[in-house]
Amino acid sequence: MSRSSPGPTWPPRSSPRAPPSRDDRGRPRAPRGRRPDRDRRRPAQPGHRHERTRRGPGSTILGTRVLGHSVDDRPIRAWHLGEVGQPEVVLIATMHGNEAAPAQILRSLRDGRAIRGVDLWVVPTYNPDGRAAHTRANAHGVDLNRNYPFHWVDLDGNYESGPQAASEPETRAMMRFLRKVRPDWILSFHQPLHGVDTDTKRPAFSRRVARHLDLPRKSFTCGGVCHGTMTGWFNHRFDGTAVTVEYGAHPKRRLMRAKAPRQVLSVWDAFRGVPSVGHDG
Ligand SMILES: [Zn+2]
Repeated sequence: MSRSSPGPTWPPRSSPRAPPSRDDRGRPRAPRGRRPDRDRRRPAQPGHRHERTRRGPGSTILGTRVLGHSVDDRPIRAWHLGEVGQPEVVLIATMHGNEAAPAQILRSLRDGRAIRGVDLWVVPTYNPDGRAAHTRANAHGVDLNRNYPFHWVDLDGNYESGPQAASEPETRAMMRFLRKVRPDWILSFHQPLHGVDTDTKRPAFSRRVARHLDLPRKSFTCGGVCHGTMTGWFNHRFDGTAVTVEYGAHPKRRLMRAKAPRQVLSVWDAFRGVPSVGHDG
C-alpha cells in the first residue's frame, strides 16, 4: 500500500460532494431544455432506480441498478459499493465481450466484505451480448468503444463504430448513468494489451494507477483509431478522469480474484473494513 501523496490533481476527499451546478462541459447549467447531445428523455424504467438488494452482514453492497438493456434485451447491471461521501469511482469491465477476465476483479469487490474510503460503482459486464457470443462487439456488430459521441467517425471492420454516434443502447445506457453519477474517477478494464494508459487527462493519476496495479505505463493509441471512445467522451465532457487499464491476454486467476481487487482499492487508499459489531453481552 503506497503512502505517497496523490499529488496536486487529487481532489479533496473530505468535503461532501455538492450537487452539480454545471453541465457536462463545465458551463452553467441551463434550467431546462435540451442537452447538448442526444439525451433522449425516456419514460422511467422500472429497473433504473436505486434498489435495495439482499445482502449479508458485513456486505459492502449499498444497492443495485439496471443501467439499461442491450440490443438483445439483456440487463446491464451496476452495483453500488463502499461508503457514500467518499471519492466517487466507477469501474467498468467487459466493454468488449471477449475481454472478460478483469470482470472478476469487480465481482470480487462486490462479493466481499465492506469497503471503506471510496464510493464505488462496479459494472462487471457492460457488454452482455458480446460476452454471451464471445465477441468484441455488441449484437449489432458495433464496437461500443468507438460509438461514443466524441470524435466519432464512421469506422468499419473490427472497430465498426455504428451507423451514427450513440446509436447503441449500451452506449446510451452508460452515458445516462455517468451523467447521473458524475464520478471523479473511472477505470475501464480491457485486454489483451498490458499496461495503464498514462497519456491521458491527468497523467499523475494514471501513473498512480499503474504503480498501484503493478502494471507498466503505456500510451495506447486505440489501434490507431481513437474515435468515439468512452474514456475520450467522458474526459472531454466531465471534470472527472477516465483511464484505460489493460490486463494482458491471460491474467492469472488469483490476481483477478484476490490481489488486483486490493490493488485497485489502494489507488484511493480504500480498503476492506471490519464491519462494526455490536456487543453481545
Ligand atoms: Zn477492449
